[in-house]
Amino acid sequence: MQTIGLLGGMSWESSAVYYKLINEGVRARLGGLHSARIVLWSVEFQEVAARQAAGDWDALADMMIEGARALERAGAEMLLICTNTMHKLADQVASAITIPLIHIADIAAVAIKAVNSSRPLLLGTRFTMEEPFYRDRMRDKHGLQLLRPSSDEERLVHGIIYDELCQGSVRPESKARCRAVIDAARMRGADGVILGCTELDLLLSQSDSDLPVFDTTALHANAAVERSLAARSRPARTSP
Ligand code: GLU
Repeated sequence: MQTIGLLGGMSWESSAVYYKLINEGVRARLGGLHSARIVLWSVEFQEVAARQAAGDWDALADMMIEGARALERAGAEMLLICTNTMHKLADQVASAITIPLIHIADIAAVAIKAVNSSRPLLLGTRFTMEEPFYRDRMRDKHGLQLLRPSSDEERLVHGIIYDELCQGSVRPESKARCRAVIDAARMRGADGVILGCTELDLLLSQSDSDLPVFDTTALHANAAVERSLAARSRPARTSP
């Protein structure tokens, strides 16, 4: 089994879900007392959020690279950045380490294409929704056109993520508002919903829409389990 490196704490509410889902995934496949080999680097999220808000992405890249390298030194054989937003820095992080980075958008794209959704709604932080790093990768690498909410709706979803979900608050009225955003997008032709923030699955699930809902946290965690266990079936390398 390969060791999974989690670059987390963004926020820890979602990293806790990753930890649980990955261990559950290993147990579901191997049974009994089996559990995942994981190393976790968990940041102080207040520092991260303040730097995001200030646009200090260079300092954030340094922080992410520090964590990624520490995970590699600690024995991680793959890296997951446990947040969609910080994939803005994925290329910089990937080039600072020698282990593979499992990109959350690529994993989501596989699930989206598997059900022939071609115009899913993207919900996430304003960075993920507004900036090109996520949508352009989905378009250029996967041929997917992601639909954006209106700017008012984007502000609403962004606020729910930082002011509520990342602080452990899950409110029914916020769920109702997000469902209204999804319904409005459906009227504009959305054929799926990407929960493109790793806390959104604390609030929303498949039961909130008739459209296929793509939970990036669960998909990303599952990809790590698959990769970690795929190593088991490969023949052992013989020494030269
Ligand atoms: N976890 C969130 C995401 O997936 C937002 C927190 C962050 O800014 O990293 O985008």
